[in-house]
Amino acid sequence: MSLCKPRMLRTPCTKTKSSVSSSPNRTSSLTLGSVRTFAAAAKGVIPRFRVNEKRLWDAIHHTAQWGATPDGGIRRLALTDVDKAVRVWLVSSVKSLGCSVKVDEMGNIFATRPGTSLSLPAIGIGSHLDTQPAGGRYDGILGVLAGVEVLRVLEENGHKSNAPIAVIDWTNEEGARFNTGMVSSGVWSGRYTLDFAHALPATEDKTKGMTLKSELRRIGFLGTLPASYEANPLSAHFELHIEQGPVLEDEGKQVGVVTGVQSMGWLIVTVHGENQHSGTCPMARRACALTSAARMISRVEEIAVAADGLSTVGVINSWPQSPATVPHKVVFSVDLSHHSTEVREAMIAETTSDFARIAHANKCSVEIQDIWNSPAVQFHPDCISCVREAAITVAGTDGVKEMVAGAGHDSVHTGDRVPTSMIFVPSKGGISHHPDEFTSSEQW
Ligand SMILES: [Zn+2]
Repeated sequence: MSLCKPRMLRTPCTKTKSSVSSSPNRTSSLTLGSVRTFAAAAKGVIPRFRVNEKRLWDAIHHTAQWGATPDGGIRRLALTDVDKAVRVWLVSSVKSLGCSVKVDEMGNIFATRPGTSLSLPAIGIGSHLDTQPAGGRYDGILGVLAGVEVLRVLEENGHKSNAPIAVIDWTNEEGARFNTGMVSSGVWSGRYTLDFAHALPATEDKTKGMTLKSELRRIGFLGTLPASYEANPLSAHFELHIEQGPVLEDEGKQVGVVTGVQSMGWLIVTVHGENQHSGTCPMARRACALTSAARMISRVEEIAVAADGLSTVGVINSWPQSPATVPHKVVFSVDLSHHSTEVREAMIAETTSDFARIAHANKCSVEIQDIWNSPAVQFHPDCISCVREAAITVAGTDGVKEMVAGAGHDSVHTGDRVPTSMIFVPSKGGISHHPDEFTSSEQW
């Protein structure tokens, strides 16, 4: 996903993992049974089929024509003509497999293969087909097309699952064209309102009133089905995704069993000093905002390392941008993440207090805005167990690593409402959101 996050803060998750199991809504009582059916499959009670590696590889590179760039990557921003083209291909492909297709008010596509049960909601296999502006061929795409391959394998083997299986393309996961990542799974889960999402402007054209809703209508994917976990429930959600980091490759592992998603978010830090002449102002008199910011940046890295977390300062600007003037103002971003929401909050508290101390010691002042924060997510133990058992079957215990996702995914939002887990496969060199993104077909 994109880390180009909205200015709007996410509302805190109102429903925790444990409340999913105890929820009184209709989905919950059906949910665990479906997941256990999956678990039974993983244990060999139900016949196990193999995906056709070449067919999946061909599908990935066939669909890459829509948005292909000369450097081997894909530029397929949400709801553009190339996104429409791959959506039309998806709908046509799954209909040929006997699936019914539903499109909701956010343009999320649900391709459902019926099960023998007439009462169970579908088990979802979902991810996204949109990409970053200079994206690769695998991020999100692998998850959706692997779902289509699962449908093909079930169909050619004549297998009837108990619960229906739904392959899902979640709209605008990347948030690159409409600046809220994972927004459509977020509407489905109740994290965002439909009105908020529909009103998101297209980043390339804010003056003509081009919004997410108008673009959905333009490409013919503005459905009438409510984008809601209540109106359109799932029993569970599984997402195969490239790791987008170097850990699996570095450790020689084949599969990541994803147990949750780390807590993450952004601070915007503004340091105020004084404009002074670089040649005449003695060092002891200076209130240099940039020197002060440099010490803060160094300090936040120490805080992250000590807490076993991550910190990144990716943007910094200073004013007035003159070599002969001591800068009076600096603005920089701080991305902080940690597996534990509580530890991340402690990191923010220490950062805030130390930045104030550093500013004071440098005759400056500092303002800190907490513009986005996302709590840690713990996936469902039954879903994790399904993934673990299946992964060990194909890669052996030594080939499997349990891990926490470092980036956001649609599964963060589905996990608010239904049992969810993810499967990671290695990313060559840890590269993602780039045309060089690559995962070998032997690794899916
Ligand atoms: Zn993705």
